[in-house]
Amino acid sequence: MVNFMTETEYFTLYRLAEGVYAAIAKPGQGAWSNAGVVDLGDELLVFDSFSTPSAAKELRKQAEMICGKKVKYLINSHYHGDHVFGNQVFEDATIISTSSTYKWFKEQNTIHDVEKEIDETKQYLHNLRNQIEKTEDKIIKISLLNQYEEMSKVLEELPHLETVLPSVIFEKHLVIHGSKRTVELHCLGGGHSPSDTFLYLPADKIAFMGDIITEKIHLPINNPKEFLTILENVKQMDMDTVVPGHGEVGTLALGETLMSYLSFLIKKVEYAQQNNISLSDFISEFVTPIEYANWKGVNGITRNLTTVYNFYAGVFE
Ligand SMILES: [Zn+2]
Repeated sequence: MVNFMTETEYFTLYRLAEGVYAAIAKPGQGAWSNAGVVDLGDELLVFDSFSTPSAAKELRKQAEMICGKKVKYLINSHYHGDHVFGNQVFEDATIISTSSTYKWFKEQNTIHDVEKEIDETKQYLHNLRNQIEKTEDKIIKISLLNQYEEMSKVLEELPHLETVLPSVIFEKHLVIHGSKRTVELHCLGGGHSPSDTFLYLPADKIAFMGDIITEKIHLPINNPKEFLTILENVKQMDMDTVVPGHGEVGTLALGETLMSYLSFLIKKVEYAQQNNISLSDFISEFVTPIEYANWKGVNGITRNLTTVYNFYAGVFE
């Protein structure tokens, strides 16, 4: 049961079960991705920390107010900034990720020179602005505008942004026994990022999926083959409620849609490579099927066609 709890500037909070909450990001406000709050009994666990400290601060405030308990754990589903740039708000909590996410986080997210970072982000926004003006595709235009708004929020907070790394590291599975609730962290590999973790609440049959499951977006793919295997395994699990990394709360049907999408991309690439169609011809001749026509993404389906084509280079020929 998904019950509305409260609305903030950054997200809408839904109650999924007693002591289990999904924070669904409002577009363009500085949250960017979804997060979760779980009451373990004596303390709280938070899943992902949004893309800005301000949004994360609001999440922590709401969670501690509603539950009357303190946050003890923060989970980072993967290293992407839109899920971890709020980490500094949970500096006093135990931040948990896989060893691979830790490594990528450290390599990719560390800010060495904040002035340079600000300049680069301004330049990126300037380029986005040009792209928005030039683009005629309506869906891509909306996606670019959203990207522009989200990145502007990150830019506003860059001067005081600190990347706080996870300190408790696991590989594939981690169980946390609270006094009232047990939760499980699962990493079945890397599909969307090099290492994707999801949070599973076995007694409640609820899962917070990070970006292994998203709704109606051409999300970046790291490894299409492993992505499919992960989703096949997730499908076998007993889940009634699924919180995607981006999009509204749903069920495992969201995962099945994504599996069809990935299988479709792989099938198209297989055909192209078996017929010696070059990447550029493959992309220019490609017609997006109606079921994916309104999916958002700054590059539409093109980036994923490229990723999957390059991933299978030499395999299907
Ligand atoms: Zn991501």
